[in-house]
Amino acid sequence: MAKHGLLIVISGPSGVGKGTVRERLMDDKSLNLVYSVSYTTREMRPGEVDGVDYRFVDDATFASMVKSGGFLEHTNFVKHNYGTPKKEVFEALEQGKNVILEIEVNGAHEIMKKCSRENLLTVFILPPDRKTLEERLAGRETEDPAVIAARLAKAKRELALAKDYDYEIVNDDLDTAVKTLRGIIAERLAKLQ
Ligand code: 5GP
Repeated sequence: MAKHGLLIVISGPSGVGKGTVRERLMDDKSLNLVYSVSYTTREMRPGEVDGVDYRFVDDATFASMVKSGGFLEHTNFVKHNYGTPKKEVFEALEQGKNVILEIEVNGAHEIMKKCSRENLLTVFILPPDRKTLEERLAGRETEDPAVIAARLAKAKRELALAKDYDYEIVNDDLDTAVKTLRGIIAERLAKLQ
């Protein structure tokens, strides 16, 4: 029987580059990673693909999934709902795959409460500084200024919670951040053997 996989939670403020770090990490097939595609009620951004970036659903569908216990965790983030599908994550872990959740801090805390630390790795990605984060968020041009401002305010609150994670990684240089995270995961996986 395949051994139980590792659940890897990656958090960090909007604009910190967690998506890019995660995509680069997934190129390393030796880590046997799968990405858990979340459900969300927010609108699709240009370039996003339904079923790949998120499963885009309406409020009623989301609410019925909450009611039926379909989420491992879920939260409201800047006026939209986001949730991690329970069944897919558990199935992948049971098959011995290592599952990445890219989620915000409330969801991460929920997971920390629910899941055994033995099979859980939590990582918070930090920006080099606040100015860089502001520039990255503003440069995205996919959201209006009010949304960017709300996300920045949220980022400030999230950064204060970075210490609750197993590791904090500064995304100053992408290659270095990916290499550091890859090393941390490989080390944990070696201990699970
Ligand atoms: P965005 O709208 O920029 O794609 O995501 C907003 C925030 O929600 C990001 O911090 C992202 O990591 C987080 N997020 C995405 N999916 C989930 C989820 O399923 N659960 C939780 N708790 N947060 C999520």
